[in-house]
Amino acid sequence: MNVYLIVIIASLVASWLLGLLSDLLTSRAMRPEPPSDFADVFDPATYARSQEYARASMRFSCVTETFNTATIIVLILAGAFNWLDLAVRSPALSPIPTGLAYIGSLALASALMSMPFEAYHTFVLENRFGFNTTTLRTFLLDRLKGVLLTSVLGGVLAAGVLFFFHEAGALAWLWCWGFAVAATLILTYVAPTWILPLFNKFTPMEAGELRTAIEEYARKNGFELSGIFVMDGSKRSTKGNAFFTGLGKRRRIALFDTLIKEMTTEEIVAVLAHEVGHAKLGHIRKRLVTGIAKTGLIFWLMSLFLNSRGLFDAFGMEHMSVYAGLIFFFLLYTPISMILSVLSNLSSRRHEFQADAFASKTTDSGGAAMISALKKLSAQNLSNLTPHPLTVWLEYGHPPVIDRVRALRAPAPAP
Ligand SMILES: [Zn+2]
Repeated sequence: MNVYLIVIIASLVASWLLGLLSDLLTSRAMRPEPPSDFADVFDPATYARSQEYARASMRFSCVTETFNTATIIVLILAGAFNWLDLAVRSPALSPIPTGLAYIGSLALASALMSMPFEAYHTFVLENRFGFNTTTLRTFLLDRLKGVLLTSVLGGVLAAGVLFFFHEAGALAWLWCWGFAVAATLILTYVAPTWILPLFNKFTPMEAGELRTAIEEYARKNGFELSGIFVMDGSKRSTKGNAFFTGLGKRRRIALFDTLIKEMTTEEIVAVLAHEVGHAKLGHIRKRLVTGIAKTGLIFWLMSLFLNSRGLFDAFGMEHMSVYAGLIFFFLLYTPISMILSVLSNLSSRRHEFQADAFASKTTDSGGAAMISALKKLSAQNLSNLTPHPLTVWLEYGHPPVIDRVRALRAPAPAP
């Protein structure tokens, strides 16, 4: 049997099993009573709902993961990748349009297949727990805009990569790397003004107590902001959040309207201070640099496997091509991608603790406002307070909220 096929199927199955095990352990780690320091925001009924929500979400992800893993394995073994290749080759176009047709068909098929699951998630699961505020119109428009945006941006990116692998010889991976990094930087730069407004409305925050408090905090901590915006998160869900967008001077903060509704000024400033912490402590820069390094690694590894006949045999391909090689490489890359994601989550959780400590140090209330903001958010979003360590290790980019609250309460380490 083909060694590539063994590696690909084994890693797909291993990743699926690991997901099931993680859900099982988290489900078993649940206790009927809320942890004592959360009893003030989680009354027994809310706590029971949060566990029910976690269980329902895990059942949902088990079903989708099982479906996705089974589908991809069946498609590989049934020779579907070769069938599609023969179909896109029949009009005898040049390699780049043929490649775009191949990659585009696969992307479209995958988007269509995931749509029923997304609809169930939004209109049944999230609805049952009172989170969903998405109308059918918003849901369909989101999908349509997503497909159009992916076709344009993904199409340009894929065309560039195919072009370099066809024309640039041994250094093609370097060209692809430079091209992809430039594209990502440009996108990050224009996202706040051109892309995010396609999905949400961003309104400059009105003058008043909250805005004054935010500006005061930013000024005191020497943090330049090009704008404070309120985002209509309530268009899709009752869950609250806040984030920064843009780079350098175009940096802006966006607060969900759902967050503003539930929190006091002091708590919102603490949430903002946490985000400022990420910038001031160099987390955003570090994430950008690791992202760039990871892109380089992907293209270099890709260049090693694109011409390997064995990889194409694993998929039952009659012809070899750069475009199909790209797709196959990403399946082969599954185990490396899992290891990298565990490492990146590990570093991200460390950053979260540091940003919390920064917020505690630079806001007037000390850690108190940050703690109450975290507790309120976890109740508002019905977060699972007691995930199993394996689940945290595999999936959590943020530490469990209980660990964050306890770290904020612990006395600061001596300098
Ligand atoms: Zn954070």
